[in-house]
Amino acid sequence: MTFPPSEHDHAHCTDELLQRAEKLCARRGARLTGQRRDVLASVARSHAAVGAYEVIERMADHGPRPAPITVYRALDFLVAHGLVHKIESRNAYVACSHAHEGSPAALLLCDGCGAVAEFDAPDAFTSLSRRAAGHGFKAEHMVLELSGKCDHCAGQAA
Ligand SMILES: [Zn+2]
Ligand SMILES: [Zn+2]
Ligand SMILES: [Zn+2]
Repeated sequence: MTFPPSEHDHAHCTDELLQRAEKLCARRGARLTGQRRDVLASVARSHAAVGAYEVIERMADHGPRPAPITVYRALDFLVAHGLVHKIESRNAYVACSHAHEGSPAALLLCDGCGAVAEFDAPDAFTSLSRRAAGHGFKAEHMVLELSGKCDHCAGQAA
């Protein structure tokens, strides 16, 4: 199941992500500072997209209000390491839900509940960059974002 069921052990999702973050940073010699870890945990509080200001609000819930610039820098770090994905069409962020080690994923955005899921689509990315090359364009960054309804919300509409 790409989208998690609405009732699930989300603490498990968060633990798994934080452990993956620790390992990945250790392997790459990057530093997962307390602040970066806090930002990651705040983004990961749900599977829905979250804006940077909401991340700040979530952090202010249980500690001092962080300066926006430090949150933006932490988000840049997490995006660069693939632990958080930026949703370009929504100017928002979502925690990565599976390990794909830098190869891009297609993001599925549910308009009903706001949940975001992702899946590997290497063939789609390869095909698009080949077609772009056919137009004399060298693609360096690609974003695939599909909006629609998750299986849960589609079921409710039916
Ligand atoms: Zn979860
Ligand atoms: Zn991901
Ligand atoms: Zn939904």
